[in-house]
Amino acid sequence: MLRHYPEQKHIPDFEAMDRSSRKKTVMGIRAMNLGRPRPNNKQKELLKNYRKTLPYVHLTYDERKEFVKSLMSLVGDWEDSRLFGEAELFDLIYERFDRHKRKLVGLRHYTGIQNCLCRVCRDHGRYKAVRPDRQTNRDFHSNAFWSAALI
Ligand SMILES: [Zn+2]
Repeated sequence: MLRHYPEQKHIPDFEAMDRSSRKKTVMGIRAMNLGRPRPNNKQKELLKNYRKTLPYVHLTYDERKEFVKSLMSLVGDWEDSRLFGEAELFDLIYERFDRHKRKLVGLRHYTGIQNCLCRVCRDHGRYKAVRPDRQTNRDFHSNAFWSAALI
């Protein structure tokens, strides 16, 4: 919902249109996009993206952003709730992953051949000196795959 929808940028005066016209115009552009040849996996990704964003295409980026802000403000006002960010939640469970002689064995960060400096790789002993010309995953929350076994 908070991504930019590229079709909207290509529609002149998108913001000035009524919501019904916006949706029709975006749907038209998307239909043309879907008609273009592309590898099968890319077509599936595009369809999935279109399906997920369909309920919001009539809203401008600013309207969507304002909606999410309002929603967060509403939820933030709940006295009996506590919001956790993804990193906070991970911090809460991190010490529960299996360890053997202080070495992390219950969680793996799959990075392929790339070296990684995240705490999972360090605690697992995978950390190696990183060549400066190699890309590294310094951020724990990269797009790599994770596998875990909780105690
Ligand atoms: Zn890592």
